[in-house]
Amino acid sequence: MNKEKDSLTSLFTYESAREKITENDFFNKHDNCQLILIYVAGLSEMVTEYGSAFAMTVLHNQAELIQNFFERHTTEAIFCRITKDCFAVVFSEVKNTDSVPLIHDLYDALMNSYYGRTQDYVPMIRMGLYHFTDSCSDFRQGLIHAGAAIYSIPEGESGIAVYYPEMETTLSYIPSEVHSQRLPAEELTDYDSSFIAFAVHMLSGSRDLDSNTDLVIQKIGMEFGFDQVLISEFLDDTTAKVTNKWIREEGIIFPIDEVYNFRDWDGFLVGYDKRGVNIALDVNDVSFSESDQAFFKEKNIRSFINILLYSYNAPIGYISCSKRQPMKELDSRTLSTLAHLSRIISSYVSLRNEQSKQMDRIQALSIDNLTGLYTYAAFQRHVRHRLHHCKPDKTYAFISADISHFSNLNENFGYAEGDHVLKLFSKKLKAGSHEQIISCHLEADRFLLFAENDSEETLMTQIRGLCDEFEEYLNKRYPMSNLRVVSGIYFVSNPNKDLLYMIDSANHARKSIKHCYAESVAVYSDELRTKRKMLLDVVGSIHDAIEDGYIEAFLQPKFSMVHRNIIGAEALVRWRNPDNTYRFPDQFIPILEDAGLIVDLDMCVFRQALDALARWKADGKKLIPISVNFSRVHFRDENFYKKVVTMTKEYGIDTSFIEVEVTESTFGENRESLFLQLQQLRKHGFIVDIDDFGTGYSSLNMLMSAPVDIVKVDKSFIDNYETKEQQVYINQIGNLILSADKDIIFEGVETEEQIKLLTDYGYDRAQGYFFSRPIPLAEFEQKYVYQ
Ligand code: C2E
Ligand code: CA
Ligand code: CA
Repeated sequence: MNKEKDSLTSLFTYESAREKITENDFFNKHDNCQLILIYVAGLSEMVTEYGSAFAMTVLHNQAELIQNFFERHTTEAIFCRITKDCFAVVFSEVKNTDSVPLIHDLYDALMNSYYGRTQDYVPMIRMGLYHFTDSCSDFRQGLIHAGAAIYSIPEGESGIAVYYPEMETTLSYIPSEVHSQRLPAEELTDYDSSFIAFAVHMLSGSRDLDSNTDLVIQKIGMEFGFDQVLISEFLDDTTAKVTNKWIREEGIIFPIDEVYNFRDWDGFLVGYDKRGVNIALDVNDVSFSESDQAFFKEKNIRSFINILLYSYNAPIGYISCSKRQPMKELDSRTLSTLAHLSRIISSYVSLRNEQSKQMDRIQALSIDNLTGLYTYAAFQRHVRHRLHHCKPDKTYAFISADISHFSNLNENFGYAEGDHVLKLFSKKLKAGSHEQIISCHLEADRFLLFAENDSEETLMTQIRGLCDEFEEYLNKRYPMSNLRVVSGIYFVSNPNKDLLYMIDSANHARKSIKHCYAESVAVYSDELRTKRKMLLDVVGSIHDAIEDGYIEAFLQPKFSMVHRNIIGAEALVRWRNPDNTYRFPDQFIPILEDAGLIVDLDMCVFRQALDALARWKADGKKLIPISVNFSRVHFRDENFYKKVVTMTKEYGIDTSFIEVEVTESTFGENRESLFLQLQQLRKHGFIVDIDDFGTGYSSLNMLMSAPVDIVKVDKSFIDNYETKEQQVYINQIGNLILSADKDIIFEGVETEEQIKLLTDYGYDRAQGYFFSRPIPLAEFEQKYVYQ
């Protein structure tokens, strides 16, 4: 049966590989089954750098390499392309018992395959090996395990990892539905035209003509069985320079330092016919000059076909294909294909020359107009180069810097003054003592630097000095503007790490001290890394968690201290992990607030509260009012209250059973809109609470005018109640709230003494562990609703 193959590599797709494995009963028929997952990172960078045709050819070559490799070393193997940059091989019975050294050889081979000429591009191959066991021999499971192994390789690095059962297996690496990316079919029936199409494709879509031309001559060499293919350009009438070269055993040669001298121009052209083709099927049969013969001998050339390259009807060079053995007569098809190819290559060689003339102009574009520093793209190029040639005894770092409150400057002194400051800072960066720094102006007041120094300490001192000095200048010149120069440093530990990752990390370090006035320089650390990981994890998975029901509302009852009965409940969010443990709000609420994603979470909790009330109502139970926490973020949307009203109506719940909790700190910002919305909510019959009262800095004034029904006194107030003064203080706060005509509830009541104290003063409502912790909805219903 014909299984579906990936059109680029002719390997199986994921689905067809799976079928093939089942069909062959692979795991039962073979011993020592293993799976290797090979991930070629940085594909999209390769596409940007060299064009998609180049990247596809690299992938195609790698697929071939992998296939040949396993066919040589194993008895049976099934190959597939899982996603566009990921291959998998299931294989068995490695001939030499241990597969790990073998995998290392494959890794080396892949790392050393051709990735274009620019030294900036560093290939990244990440491989994960998995041994199937009797208990686990499932292709998909194997992929997941091998993927987990890959994940243990530090982010942004190349390497090989073997799966051990202790490794974490939960990962999002392989999507549950793997669909292999289908690339446009490149099957053309006519061999010639497919070859021509390949060359046009390679060269027209390319950004790096040199590298792409390399791949074209490689393909010519392989397809037609030559031993050497090269392109040579005329420099003048007696010299030609080799610009691209491929040798069968060595592959693409670069750099090339080869110049040919010929006696005279006319002499050179003698061998070429009208079409510009020069063929020698066996150099020994043709009468060449002595020097030519010596040349062929030296180069080990026994037969060749050379074709001239033209531009505007003048020869500009030639492509030479040669063998170490005599050649048979070339058939007309091969000949016309080669002639055709040479015409295509001609146009690209002249294009390449044109391009190099334009390089100067491109150079000019790589400088930022305002500051004279590099643009971001040029910065990346230069830094890549520097990292590639980095010295082991030096320390390197990325620094992300900005001038905080820069907008004050623009607003108070005008844009011209702002620009002046940016120029001044740039000038400082370029000044003599900082010449090891490569710097770039990103936008507005943001700068990116790459620095080299002797040690982390000296580098820190240098950067700190630079920033402090400039900050001092700014503060002298614009005393009331509160300007600061804040920077984040990422020390390069591995020069092969992904550039964007390192830049991001520096940015991240800078942002971590944005609100911290004592520090102006922060270094990216493991702690930040963990925090960031958590951040990415939370932000990345919240929507799935909501959709898949992992976000649960727990309920904590509110009690009457006097009657000891339930009077309400608060919905508190919990994030259930797949292993049924829970994450608590402090681990994700602040992150979601910052990211603006809290809104969806709150609504999810609100919906669960409404859902519970609707169920109780349908079952004819007495309704217990539920309060829901709404983050400040909601109130930026002036239609927020309408949503709450509509949803409550949709569930058919009387609005008086919903309490809206808003923390005291929310009252600090945009009070007008907040008040308007709270008034609307109350008008519709909702109860409104100020949460965490006493932790913010709200004034008595605010309390008097706030459109709220209930004040929730923060736990910290009743934590200390031992001394008489503390007790009096608690009562004063209570009286204050009562005098503002609001009800009171005390949060965090944990002991009988606290209850006695509060009831003695005449207060009744409380919420706290003394009565109950927040409990899952089902448990709450069992205890208080369906008892
Ligand atoms: P909060 O609104 O002040 O909620 C009360 C917190 O105090 C809860 O913590 C509760 O478990 C805890 N607590 C209650 N009684 C006691 C006690 O007697 N002793 C002690 N030590 N703690 C007590 P939790 O559930 O960890 O929630 C923390 C905060 O996270 C909440 O403080 C609230 O600000 C926020 N939060 C929780 N759920 C949501 C939500 O759905 N949306 C939003 N925006 N925020 C939420
Ligand atoms: Ca609350
Ligand atoms: Ca609270």
